[in-house]
Amino acid sequence: MMEVHVLASGSDGNCTVVECDGEAVVVDAGLSCRTLMSYMDREGVDSKMIKAILVTHEHADHVKGVGPMARRLNVPVMCTLGTFQSSQMGAVEYIPYDLRDCFSVGPFRVVPLPTYHDAAEPNAFFIETDKGKLAMVTDTGKFDYRIEHALKSCDAAVVEANYDLEMLHNGPYPPSLQRRIEGDHGHMWNRDTGMALKRTMSDARKIFLAHLSRTNNEPDVARETVADITGVRRLKIDCLEFQGDTRTFKVKGRRRPPSRCLSGPRPSSSAWSRRPPSGACSPSQARRTPAGLPAP
Ligand SMILES: [Zn+2]
Ligand SMILES: [Zn+2]
Repeated sequence: MMEVHVLASGSDGNCTVVECDGEAVVVDAGLSCRTLMSYMDREGVDSKMIKAILVTHEHADHVKGVGPMARRLNVPVMCTLGTFQSSQMGAVEYIPYDLRDCFSVGPFRVVPLPTYHDAAEPNAFFIETDKGKLAMVTDTGKFDYRIEHALKSCDAAVVEANYDLEMLHNGPYPPSLQRRIEGDHGHMWNRDTGMALKRTMSDARKIFLAHLSRTNNEPDVARETVADITGVRRLKIDCLEFQGDTRTFKVKGRRRPPSRCLSGPRPSSSAWSRRPPSGACSPSQARRTPAGLPAP
C-alpha cells in the first residue's frame, strides 16, 4: 500500500511523507524537526521507516528542518547540488542527483522534474512504486510538458494552487512581490492549475491542492476554481484547511505497465525491478561528508 502524509503545505512550511510497504521518504522539511515529528506521530508515521529526505529547493519553507531531521533520524539528504550548496543544512549525509536522471530509494523510483522558480536548481518529483504513482509539483511559475506528463500519468497529484489572482491583486503584498509571485519563476495560481489538471484529466486521479497562500487564497476558493474548470466534484478535491492541519491519503494504482521514465532513457519494466536505472543511488551508497560540502 502506498500512502501520502501531508504534514505541512504552504509558505509557512512544507513537508510530506510518502510511504510504501513499511518504507518511506520525506519530501521537504520546512518546519522545525520537533513540530514535524509531532505531526508524524499524529498521522501514525513511524519515523524508523524513513530512508531519506528529498529536498525540492533551498527556500526556508522547504529546508528549515532538513538538517536537524536528517541528523535525528540518521538518514541521508538527497537534492540537486545547486539546492545543497544554497542551503545551510549543517553536517548531513548528502547524496546528489542530477535533474536528468531517475534514481531509486527503497521501493521508490523517483524522477526529478525541473521547475520554474526563483531558486538555484529547483525540482518537483514523480514518485513511483509497484503500488502507485504520485506527482508532487509545487513552487513553480509554470508547468511544462514533463510536469503535465507527470500529472497525466499519476494516480495522485499533490499540486500547487498558490493564489487567487483577484485576492493577490487586492491583497496587502507590494506590487514587486505580486509580480514575483505571478511571474514565470514564482507560483501557480488556481486557474492555471485547474487548466493543467483539465488538460491532463484522468478520472481515477486523486487531486490534492498544495502550497496555498494564507494571504492570497482560501481552501474553498482554490477547490471551487479547480472544480469549476475540471468538472471534478469539489468534495473530491482535497487540501489542508488551516495552519497545523495534516492529512493522510492512499494512492491507489491502476493496473497498467510502469510509466516511462520522464527524463532520460526508458528502462524496461524488468530493469526497474532488477536494478535502479543508471545514475541511481541508494542510501547504502551514501558517503558521509563534512559540514556544508558535497560528496566529491
Ligand atoms: Zn515554497
Ligand atoms: Zn520556493
